[in-house]
Amino acid sequence: MAAQALGVTGTWGEGEVTSGVDNMTNSLWERARAVMPGKQSNVRRGAQGNPLFFTASQGARYFDFAGQDYIDFVGGMGPAIWGHSKEEYLEAIKSQLETLFSIPSTIAQTEAEVLLAEKIVEHVPCAEWVRFAISGSEAVQLAMRIARGYSGRRYVLRFHKHYHGWIDGVSGGDLPVGASDLPVPVPSATDSSGIAKHAHADSLMVQWNDLRALEDTLKKHSAEIAVVLMEPVMLNFGCCPPREGYLTAVRQLCDQYGVLLCFDEVFTGFRMSLGGAQEAFGVTPDLVVLAKAIAGGMPLAAVAGRREIMQVLRDDSVLVGGTFNSFPLSIAAALKNIELLERDNGAFYRRIDAIQEKLVQGIYDIGREFGQSFLLQGPRGVVHLNFVSGTDVVYAPNELLEKANWERLAKFNELLLSERVLVGGGSRFVLTDALSDDDIVDALNRIRSATLRLSEAVK
Ligand code: PMP
Repeated sequence: MAAQALGVTGTWGEGEVTSGVDNMTNSLWERARAVMPGKQSNVRRGAQGNPLFFTASQGARYFDFAGQDYIDFVGGMGPAIWGHSKEEYLEAIKSQLETLFSIPSTIAQTEAEVLLAEKIVEHVPCAEWVRFAISGSEAVQLAMRIARGYSGRRYVLRFHKHYHGWIDGVSGGDLPVGASDLPVPVPSATDSSGIAKHAHADSLMVQWNDLRALEDTLKKHSAEIAVVLMEPVMLNFGCCPPREGYLTAVRQLCDQYGVLLCFDEVFTGFRMSLGGAQEAFGVTPDLVVLAKAIAGGMPLAAVAGRREIMQVLRDDSVLVGGTFNSFPLSIAAALKNIELLERDNGAFYRRIDAIQEKLVQGIYDIGREFGQSFLLQGPRGVVHLNFVSGTDVVYAPNELLEKANWERLAKFNELLLSERVLVGGGSRFVLTDALSDDDIVDALNRIRSATLRLSEAVK
């Protein structure tokens, strides 16, 4: 049920085009189906509908072959926090392109790379040394290798439904059943096939926001745990927030039991604040993984942390490659991105707060008008919509799995798509600087139409 609700079912290659698809889109789809298994990522497909091919983007909108506009609440899956046509940002990439666009990452460096590392060290509390990568998934692998290399220990302790990329060791797995002495994740109904059989043998998994579960495991197994790895806010599942004091207590437990703490800030980094969730919550991990918003739309990731831990890269005891690790266009984009984020004392963040407030209030008003029990939650810059009654906050995935009306959400996501409102998998709205007041009014009108249609379809 949950898999369906999250929009992870459906077969791209066999879906029916319902109606209203222009000829160019139809023929491209036919050609695509002849040479590709699907769209280029299928971890979370989001709503299923007619094939979508975009031809252009402007501000907070995409355009298709028929010239129809789509209001963008996905932001390129999170990175494109300026929207699609911020001139100053694009100029920085173009000018880098004209000067130096490719560099061999094992042989030479650029000044821009040093400047960027300095900026990360300035803003991100745990960052003393920085290593760049390109995608969030590989940067998570890098962080785990650093933690294992540094500690000489085996296990990565992760949390139910936290997402750390698609690579075997962190992809999927379910909570161990009962009070398992050694809580190794068990297979989940929604796991990908093709994952190496023993890929999860070096992971432990407990429920997030549950201090006792963490403490029990640390008490028994800390001598074998290399790192506790978590999203500081569960942006990949309902945007569940940490309970009051939870992150601080996790930090204390990690200190008490001598285990490293790594925040996967691929989504929260530079989005919640220049210093990410760790700055916003005042809790400093030992390591951090950054990606998405770090470069404002270009591909870039980083692992940063305490010097003593990152030393394993300097002394070459931990080896990590990556052809594109210092890709100049991405580094230039990140430098401009951070300069823009710093500008006018964080005006970007105030603007995102204002946009978010308008959107959230507007959707709640629509919910009241049509008697739909929307629950919207999320930190600055991203908000998840679910259908849940009787509570204004959900802290854990199990609670959400149990309480949310997933069928209704799946239907609503389809309707949003047909109204040309683009949201991420599971109804996740990413806010970008490009969203104008008019965009929000337009988006709310479309969301209202989708809600009206939903109310007529499911009484
Ligand atoms: N960690 C988190 C918290 C993420 O949100 C994501 C991407 N959604 C990843 C890791 C993987 O990043 P990428 O898609 O760049 O590989």
